[in-house]
Amino acid sequence: MTKVLFIQDILFEFIGPMQISALLKKNGHECDLLILSEETNVIDKIKKINPDIIAFSVMTGSHNELADFAKKIKKEIKVITIFGGPHATFYTDLINEEGVDIICIGEGEYAMLELCNNINKDITKIKNLWVKKNNKIIKNEIEPLIENLDELPFPDRDIYYKRYKYLKLLPTKKFMTGRGCPYNCSFCFNHELKKIYSNKGRYVRKRKIEKVIEEILILKKQWDMKIVRFSDDTFTLYKEWLLEFLDVYKKKVRLPFTCLARANEIDEEIAKKLKETGCINIFFGLESGNNRIRNDVLRKNLSEKDIINAARLLHKYNIKFGTYNMLGNPTESIEDAFDTIKLNTIIKTDFPFSTILQPYPGTDISKFSVEKNLLPEDYCVNDLTLMNKRSQIKLKNKKEIVNLHRFFFYGVKFPFLLPLIKILIKFPENKIYYLIFQAGVAWTKKSSFGLGFIDMIKLAWKLKSKL
Ligand code: SF4
Repeated sequence: MTKVLFIQDILFEFIGPMQISALLKKNGHECDLLILSEETNVIDKIKKINPDIIAFSVMTGSHNELADFAKKIKKEIKVITIFGGPHATFYTDLINEEGVDIICIGEGEYAMLELCNNINKDITKIKNLWVKKNNKIIKNEIEPLIENLDELPFPDRDIYYKRYKYLKLLPTKKFMTGRGCPYNCSFCFNHELKKIYSNKGRYVRKRKIEKVIEEILILKKQWDMKIVRFSDDTFTLYKEWLLEFLDVYKKKVRLPFTCLARANEIDEEIAKKLKETGCINIFFGLESGNNRIRNDVLRKNLSEKDIINAARLLHKYNIKFGTYNMLGNPTESIEDAFDTIKLNTIIKTDFPFSTILQPYPGTDISKFSVEKNLLPEDYCVNDLTLMNKRSQIKLKNKKEIVNLHRFFFYGVKFPFLLPLIKILIKFPENKIYYLIFQAGVAWTKKSSFGLGFIDMIKLAWKLKSKL
């Protein structure tokens, strides 16, 4: 039996550790999880748990902090450290960090299982793993994608809920009905992941309807779940699967739900069915209200007509919707950025979310920006920040665009404020604008995730350092 401790830095439920933990426990191993932002005396706690392996779930932006933490831990106890998730997959230089023994590329379930099964044997030949040994790095090839996702056990939610009551008591629980996205947006990791997995199996996979329903019903019975959240990149991707799924969901689950979609996939039949089966909120990426930015630069492959049509149908069937928007896109002018507010106003978005584009090195948007001299040639992953703080891209009206991001929510929800916003964005960037932005995020999350007032305050406090 191998003892694995998962470590992450923020209070958030990730499906990855839950899925791996379920598979490891099923095979006789022991798993635990610590969230650094929630812990005091964390080194003592780790010593008490005494794991054989510490598995880090890393988000780009906090990778340096976690690598430093791993180094610190390795000085205190004898343990193997492994880093996984999208960051380790795309930024393999991470293996050179002193505190990192192994990185996992791509899907981690079976690689972690093999690692745990062979902890006292040779661990240098496990597929998907890059392993450091005697100052050398052994790079193993990547295994094909898991063809049948239903062969995996249901995610182990207990790994979060046994320690973190806040997560346990959240009324909304997340589910995945599949993996992969067929689109190729230039700012998203999917097009790069497809290259890593070329000739390694079907990239987009869906689970069996009855298995998803079974998982939801177990959670409905076990925890006080009030709302189901489908976290697939695009829940509405396969119309036939979706309509059949919603029929079964309506009969057996009967809980309100939210999901992510693409505006071009929402037609009358889907909107009607979503409403009938209990869909309360839907979220889709609008990204930019400017057609050139949205389709030529961001490669969203989404027309304004599709966006307006989706919004019309969602209003018709009384389904509230949120949009994801990005400001600070390469070659974006302040007028282009205002187009994004304008389109959201036209479609009357209920929950407008906005971020400042973070061009992840290796993605096509980052390559495009370097080619256009909008990013330095030596631009690297350490230049990224967590989501919303600033933009690295050279922009003509950068100050105004960053400030507009702070007022984005207010511009969409209260368009009569736009003349005032146009004046305010001319002032230097400042902390007050940032606080105003955070208040908008807290309101949007509270309203769209069904949080109570106390939860909203807690969330705002937790977001304070991470946005
Ligand atoms: S549709 Fe969404 S998940 Fe798919 S590639 Fe575009 S941004 Fe990524």
